[in-house]
Amino acid sequence: MLNSSFAFNRLPVTPANFDFHCHSIVSDGLLSPEVVARRAAANQVDLWALTDHDDIGGLAEAKATAEEVGMAFVTGVEISIEWKGIPIHIVGLGFDAKDPALTGGLDELRSGRVERAKRMGDALAAVGIPGVYEGALCFVTNPSLISRAHFARYLVSIGIARDVPGVFQHYLAQGKPGYVDHRWATLEEAVRWINGAGGTAVVAHPGRYKMSGAQMRSFLDDFKDVGGRAIEVTCGSHSPDHVMHFARLARHYEFHASRGSDFHGPEESYVDLGKLPQLPEDLKPVWRLVI
Ligand code: AMP
Ligand code: MN
Ligand code: MN
Ligand code: MN
Repeated sequence: MLNSSFAFNRLPVTPANFDFHCHSIVSDGLLSPEVVARRAAANQVDLWALTDHDDIGGLAEAKATAEEVGMAFVTGVEISIEWKGIPIHIVGLGFDAKDPALTGGLDELRSGRVERAKRMGDALAAVGIPGVYEGALCFVTNPSLISRAHFARYLVSIGIARDVPGVFQHYLAQGKPGYVDHRWATLEEAVRWINGAGGTAVVAHPGRYKMSGAQMRSFLDDFKDVGGRAIEVTCGSHSPDHVMHFARLARHYEFHASRGSDFHGPEESYVDLGKLPQLPEDLKPVWRLVI
């Protein structure tokens, strides 16, 4: 039985180091859930969630390892949504991983990725790079979860760019030749699945979206209206200015604040598990809602 969290009695009074955003080979990370868990513990993470894209198949292994190494664990997932044409990620934390509406919704979301990946392959062939869908499959570690990160790794392997960020910049980011539009979940669906399973919905890496200040406020209004309760303030892709900005928005909206490395693997991630600045002290840490 996979409960949403455990080991309350092992929590320090104030968890000094929580990391609620990272990936394993169940989506587009490079390490198994077990190895990610051990690495988090080695980095003195004391409260941890694995948040694979659109898939919760790694949680049982993650939980078992966290239990073994004495690290408090919370269920997690990073759900792909589209809001007003903008792709956005919503992290879910502390839910019942057996909830049928959540698992059914994620199943559907994953199945759409295959057809999207084939269209990405066609789009890249049209600019003179053939066979990329088939090539990307060699980098896929979960047959039901193909991501742009797998395309990027293949394109690096054939020398199209020097590194993964370089491939995104020239080929895979929105507006570039390999980017195709896709119908993800809606904001309302993702938050409903998470809340319906007893969890908490969190806006992932808000600093990464190409939105004006007004658009971000409109998005956060909608997120709050449908039942969202937290945003990532400290995360792997946030500058110190982002942290200050999203801390202000967390206060304004009375959101709880989350902290997550978005670690994918030692070769690709600049921020390692748990190696993040602390949240501004006055914010309400999201772990209070999920343990
Ligand atoms: P997808 O869910 O298929 O759209 O792929 C999104 C994933 O691609 C993210 O979770 C990251 O792993 C990766 N990604 C997106 N943008 C970048 C970037 N600029 N540099 C490196 N990796 C990226
Ligand atoms: Mn990813
Ligand atoms: Mn993301
Ligand atoms: Mn992520």
